[in-house]
Amino acid sequence: MKSCITCRIKTCEKIVEGNAKYCFSCENFPCPRLKNLDKRYRSKYGMSMIDNLKAIKSFGIIHFVRAEKQKWTCPECSEMLCVHNPQCLSCGYKWLEKLRMHPPGDPLL
Ligand SMILES: [Zn+2]
Repeated sequence: MKSCITCRIKTCEKIVEGNAKYCFSCENFPCPRLKNLDKRYRSKYGMSMIDNLKAIKSFGIIHFVRAEKQKWTCPECSEMLCVHNPQCLSCGYKWLEKLRMHPPGDPLL
């Protein structure tokens, strides 16, 4: 589940080599690879990895995870939502549909 909410480009050599812990600590941030991934996630899953990374950079990972945890908790049944599934696995709540109807403002940025 952690991989659902934490940006990690597993194949990125900077991260594999330990030169950068998060994408934003890399001198190439945001690199074309990340931009592509970001674009895909924004259109497919309604989330932006670059925005997430900027939020982590500004507010720290603990704050980010706390906010994400709230964001990815089903309002209907309190189960964890997965970004890769457009609806709640336990009760069927269609969070992606709701998100598209009411795009959230971006209070973090
Ligand atoms: Zn649910």
